[in-house]
Amino acid sequence: MSAPSTLVACPACNGLNRVPDARLADAPNCGRCGAALFTGHPLALDDAGFHAHVDRAGLPVLVDFWAPWCGPCRMMAPHFEAAAAQLEPVVRLAKVDTEAQPALGSRFGIRSIPTLALFRDGREVARQAGALGAADIVRWTRQFL
Ligand code: ZN
Repeated sequence: MSAPSTLVACPACNGLNRVPDARLADAPNCGRCGAALFTGHPLALDDAGFHAHVDRAGLPVLVDFWAPWCGPCRMMAPHFEAAAAQLEPVVRLAKVDTEAQPALGSRFGIRSIPTLALFRDGREVARQAGALGAADIVRWTRQFL
């Protein structure tokens, strides 16, 4: 009998690590490159990172689709940052710059920013358009876990 475990992608090298669920909160490191698997901060994802963290890894991922020119996005950034500290390691928080990564924005039909989308096993399970404060980001996310 093996303990339940979760596939976690590495923020530094995108390598996949199988981590026992009981050890997720013990600051695990990547078996490939040694980097911390959880940083307490949202990850900036490009195509390869999105594939590793959202499509392949087993943690739910909360993605903030944003752009540098968007005022409400910049206003929400510190709140999203604070929410990451509260939601890890149960949820991975990530940011997709829709200007730098237009393919990801169009893959999910992002029409307004900021848009928050929660993914599980590579599938979108919930979406919320518009900026939220840290407490509301955490509350909104937890209702779908
Ligand atoms: Zn790594």
